[in-house]
Amino acid sequence: MKRLIVASGNQGKLKEIRQILSPLDFDVIPQSEYGVPDAEEPHATFLENALEKARHASRLTGMAALSDDSGICVAALNGEPGIHSARYAGEPRSDEKNNLKLLDALRNSEDRRAHYYCVIVCLRHAMDPEPLIAEGKWQGEILKAPRGEGGFGYDPLFFDPVLGKTAAELDHAIKNRVSHRAHALADLLKKLGSL
Ligand code: IMP
Repeated sequence: MKRLIVASGNQGKLKEIRQILSPLDFDVIPQSEYGVPDAEEPHATFLENALEKARHASRLTGMAALSDDSGICVAALNGEPGIHSARYAGEPRSDEKNNLKLLDALRNSEDRRAHYYCVIVCLRHAMDPEPLIAEGKWQGEILKAPRGEGGFGYDPLFFDPVLGKTAAELDHAIKNRVSHRAHALADLLKKLGSL
């Protein structure tokens, strides 16, 4: 079985990654088991930050590593909050403050288009010149007031016009089928499987 280090300590993500990769022969291990500290995320794009994290984990463990990066991109804000999604309203990070800041930034905008984006990268070794890159998007709109109790982050403001619900109003199982992360994980499975 091939070992794959995941550059994240998030148990939910780890579980999802293990589940989706279960048809393949991978032992998925969090970087914390090897004492790898979180990497810096200094770049302007999700992709570069994901590569930075995977390279850091791979360099410190000597093994193949996988990492992801995600956020919400709003058309009328030139893609912001984007890579700043987690800390859009500053430190300490607060979903509520982030959502208020987003509503304020869009107060005069009729264009409410937004999408969630997720990239997952996999490096076979720290200097791998051909990283595997998987992506997923989830298209929606930013409402003028929050709706729903589920999910996290921007979910109460993120409305899926096809499903007629915000991400915070969706069943967990449905969100896990339609989300940016679900699409990126499906893309990952396809690409890893064909390696
Ligand atoms: P991370 O890539 O998991 O660190 O996510 C970065 C940030 O993007 C989160 O802190 C949230 O603010 C936002 N985000 C990413 N995915 C979601 C989602 O599925 N729902 C709500 N917010 C999300």
